[in-house]
Amino acid sequence: MPSLNSPSSALGGLLKSLQKSFHQKNYLSSDPLEFVHRYSDPLDQEIVALIAALLAYGNVKQIRRSVGEALNKIEGLRQSPKLWVQSLSTESGRAESRRALNGWVHRFNVGDDLVLLGAVLSQSWLAHGSMGAQFVANLDPRASDISEALDALIRVWRKWAHAIDPTRASGSFSYFLTAPEDGSCCKRWCMFLRWMGRKDELDPGLWAQGEILSAQFPPGRWLRASQLVIPLDTHTGRISQYLALTKRKSLNWQAALEVTASLRRWDSDDPTRYDFALARLGILDLCQRKYKKEICTQCQLLPACRFARKKGIRG
Ligand code: SF4
Repeated sequence: MPSLNSPSSALGGLLKSLQKSFHQKNYLSSDPLEFVHRYSDPLDQEIVALIAALLAYGNVKQIRRSVGEALNKIEGLRQSPKLWVQSLSTESGRAESRRALNGWVHRFNVGDDLVLLGAVLSQSWLAHGSMGAQFVANLDPRASDISEALDALIRVWRKWAHAIDPTRASGSFSYFLTAPEDGSCCKRWCMFLRWMGRKDELDPGLWAQGEILSAQFPPGRWLRASQLVIPLDTHTGRISQYLALTKRKSLNWQAALEVTASLRRWDSDDPTRYDFALARLGILDLCQRKYKKEICTQCQLLPACRFARKKGIRG
C-alpha cells in the first residue's frame, strides 16, 4: 500500500478514475448545473447559474424543483432570465416581480429574496457589463485563489442590497451572500465559480479566457481554473476527511483551502476538476457515512479511504 501522505500516492490515480466515471453529462440530471445548459446567451447563463448555485442547499430534488419553479415564474413575466434582470433596475420592475414571485419559497428564502438578488445583479451589469467583469476586476492574476476577489464582490453586493431594500438585505436574503472573510466555506459561491472558471462538457466556463463575456473584462483578467477553491459541502467535506485531504473537523474556508491545496498535488492548473465526481458519491447515496461492505468494496476510492479501512478492519 503506497503512503497516502506522499504526492506519489495512488490517490491521484483513484481520483482520475472517479472523475472518468462520474464527470459526465448523463449525471447532470442530479445537479442544479443542468439548468445552465438549457440556455445559450451568456447573460442568461450568468443569472441562471447564480440562482441555481445560491439555492443549492437542501436535497437535490428540492433544489431542482425550487430552481425550476423560480425560472418558470421569471420566464412567465419576461421572455428570458436576462430580460428579467434588466427589468429589475427600476422600483416598478421590482414591484412587478415581487408580485409574480409571491408564494415562491425555497427553505429559508422567498420570492422577494430572488428579486433583490436579480436587482443587485442588474446593478452589476449596468456598472460592469457582466458580473464576471465585476468579479475579475478584483481578481489579481497572480493571486493563488479567489478569496480576496470573492470578499470584495460580497462587500459591494451587501452595500448595494442594503441601498435597494435594507429590510430584506439583512433578513433571509443575507443567506445568499456568504464571504470567506466570515469563515464560511462558501460552498455555493465556490460551486458557482467552478461553473464560471472551468470549461469542459459540464462546466460552462463563462468567465474563462477567450469566452464571449471576457471581451469586456479588464485587460489580462479572467477567472483561471487554477484559482478556484473546492465547494466543500457535507458530502465532499466528509469524503475529503476520509481521504486525508484535510485534517480539519470544521468545514470552513480554511478547510476548503486545505482540501484545494491537497488536490493541487495532482493538478495544480485545475484542482476542482474532481469536485463534480466526488459530490456524486454523496448526492447519489453511493457513500453513506458508514462502512458498508457491499458498497465500500465496490468504491473506486477504497484503497485510499482511511474511514472504510478503519471501520472495515473493525468489522
Ligand atoms: S470506501 Fe466507502 S466510506 Fe470510503 S469513500 Fe468509498 S463508499 Fe465512502
